[in-house]
Amino acid sequence: MRTPVIAGNWKMYKTIAEAVDFVTKLKPLVAAAAHCEVIVAPPFTALRAVTEAVKGSNIAVAAQDVHWDKEGAHTGDISPVMLLEAGCTHVIIGHSERRTDHGETDESVNRKVKAALARGLLPIVCVGERLAEREAGKTEEVLKRQFQGGFAGLTPEEFSRIIVAYEPVWAIGTGRTATPEMAAESHRYFRGLVRGQFGEAVAGALRILYGGSVKPDNVAGLMAQEEIDGALVGGASLKPDSFAALVNYPRA
Ligand code: PEP
Repeated sequence: MRTPVIAGNWKMYKTIAEAVDFVTKLKPLVAAAAHCEVIVAPPFTALRAVTEAVKGSNIAVAAQDVHWDKEGAHTGDISPVMLLEAGCTHVIIGHSERRTDHGETDESVNRKVKAALARGLLPIVCVGERLAEREAGKTEEVLKRQFQGGFAGLTPEEFSRIIVAYEPVWAIGTGRTATPEMAAESHRYFRGLVRGQFGEAVAGALRILYGGSVKPDNVAGLMAQEEIDGALVGGASLKPDSFAALVNYPRA
């Protein structure tokens, strides 16, 4: 039985005050949610204030990116040690917006994953195809390339600490969601890759989240799929009520 994860990616939204106000309102709304892990990913500036504000609650905090070095001449970057000091337990790595806006590659994803794991941060690693790749029938090819590149050189124990988010790029922020069946098919394929590389136990325990226009009105259909172990949510994670409705998705 895999414990689901509902994670909110706030991207470049919310000041420190807005972020603290959000989690203050969210805490009572999700306090009874024992069925899943709840994670929010504020911008860097709000991390410390949010980790302080969620203390004693069931809400964990992720950063949205990390550099692989402990420190150094990397203007604008942030190190795993700094994220730990700010109280983060998780970090999102390889989001498609990082890949597009900042030229991230599977190789840089791999370096970041290894650095995060080495420091004790839990990576939430994003994979997923672009629209043209899906239309060209290349979804599996892309997932295989991202798997092989992004997770190269990991031991099964290291990989077992990772959460994967399958986010078809064409569904992010577009209102266009993959159907639950489409998402489940990609998750199944990805889990098969994991099985081949790391074995049945690791593959069976891996949480694969779906991301791409998840909303309170479509979350139940997605979560009803056995292959879907949670959601990484952008837009609908920005309001406490909406995010709480995702966390408290209808369950059978
Ligand atoms: C995301 O940013 O990871 C995402 C899935 O965004 P949205 O839910 O807005 O599509």
